[in-house]
Amino acid sequence: MKVLVAVKRVVDYNVKVRVRSDGSGIELASVKMSMNPFDEIAVEEAVRLKEKGAATEIIAVSCGDAKCQETLRTAMAIGADRGILVETTEELQPLAVAKLLKALVDKEQPALVILGKQAIDDDANQTGQMLAALADLPQATFASKVEVAGDKVNVTREVDGGLETISLSLPAVITTDLRLNEPRYVTLPNIMKAKKKQLDTFKPEDLGVDVKPRLKTLKVSEPPKRGAGIKVPDVATLVDKLKNEAKVI
Ligand code: AMP
Repeated sequence: MKVLVAVKRVVDYNVKVRVRSDGSGIELASVKMSMNPFDEIAVEEAVRLKEKGAATEIIAVSCGDAKCQETLRTAMAIGADRGILVETTEELQPLAVAKLLKALVDKEQPALVILGKQAIDDDANQTGQMLAALADLPQATFASKVEVAGDKVNVTREVDGGLETISLSLPAVITTDLRLNEPRYVTLPNIMKAKKKQLDTFKPEDLGVDVKPRLKTLKVSEPPKRGAGIKVPDVATLVDKLKNEAKVI
């Protein structure tokens, strides 16, 4: 069983993002970039499926500029067998990525495609769902447990009221939630091994995909600054302030 895993290069989750002074987007110059945390969970899950004997080959895919090769090497150090870079310097919106992944699904015919539930940069939470629709595949989003059983995969999902377990026929699309697993640390020997693994590069045109943005960002702005807190002497003052100043009760 082949597993395709989508890995996005995003601003590292520890970085405090700053908005560009012209409001056109986020400052990316000399900012630390890493693999989207939900995608690390996706790669880890694919590797666990391989270790259990359920998967035979793991292919990591990243779409973006040449630096996404680093993200693919990290995926290969975690345990992916090979990587595919879809190289472009165009801004890629979720629909464009879903179309690129659909073209690769047609080419590679994986039994399972695992994506993160969302990329922590644009928080779109759209790509997996769009891919499932375009490829006409069943989908299980926000997975917290994945079990392959023959030609089916049982996925437990985190929903409002608790946990829901659904059974999908393979091939299928899964998106990962935080509690699915805890990704392993990448070891130096595995980083060295990953350097020798196969990495193919395509352009969107090679896959017949038009990645032109369909949405226009009008403005990006910082959230309003929070004022400093104050100490109140007693409960009566607190209630008075909540009623008459904050007007929340
Ligand atoms: P989003 O819909 O942008 O929140 O992203 C959801 C998931 O789609 C991510 O966690 C990735 O698994 C995948 N994805 C989005 N953009 C890319 C990209 N440029 N390259 C590879 N995978 C991507």
